[in-house]
Amino acid sequence: MSGVDAARSEGERLAERAREVRRRVADAAARSGRDGTAVLLVAVTKTLPVETMRLAYAQGLRVFGENRVLEAREKHAALGLADVRWELIGQLQSNKIARAIELFDRVQSVASVALAQALDTRAARAGRTLPVLLEVNVAGEASKSGFAPTEVIEAARAIAVLPNLRPEGLMTIAPMADQAERARPVFRELRRLRASLRAAVPLGPEGGWHELSMGMSDDFEVAIEEGATIVRIGQALFGARPTP
Ligand SMILES: *Cc1c(COP(=O)(O)O)cnc(C)c1O
Repeated sequence: MSGVDAARSEGERLAERAREVRRRVADAAARSGRDGTAVLLVAVTKTLPVETMRLAYAQGLRVFGENRVLEAREKHAALGLADVRWELIGQLQSNKIARAIELFDRVQSVASVALAQALDTRAARAGRTLPVLLEVNVAGEASKSGFAPTEVIEAARAIAVLPNLRPEGLMTIAPMADQAERARPVFRELRRLRASLRAAVPLGPEGGWHELSMGMSDDFEVAIEEGATIVRIGQALFGARPTP
């Protein structure tokens, strides 16, 4: 197969998967009494080459989720696309904060008050306000970062006063499970936490903390049924990621 044919068929496969994912997002949104456009689809492009990202762009995908700052910077430079949004969804080391601020439109993975404070300082220096989500380790998995549910309100109080961050909501990663249904209590708990937050640390007249980033390839429909406003989808769009 020539390179051109290979690229075309990869594009066709992606087009088909993107259509299917969008249909499933819309159907799940309808089941939660919402329109599919109320759910932001973040295409998780970590480990994928820029060629694949161009194909995603051609399918109308405009929000990319990356988990490594340096990888994202290289791809950002290589792509050179202005009308794309970048979301950081992975752990952020303190020595990469300044570079993360230059690139990312939002950091979804704020998992400590210290990190939030460092982001605030750097955002001030860069003269910008940085939208953030607080990552919550709902299931208390040792392998995952994030605030414990019992810590969220106190952390939110400390973060809400930082002048250069704009807290927009919560993010979680459900435990791996053989059935998506297993993740439902985790997603429900994140939504419940948002309600507590709105009461304890209201941001604006409607309480703020609007965003619930929850749901990945294996469980996004359940997450949307439970109120996800952002889903982060890699493999359902791009096929299986090779395990490193
Ligand atoms: C990799 C990743 C995803 C996407 O996972 P898929 O199974 O490919 O959909 C979503 N969120 C985070 C935080 C990730 O690291």
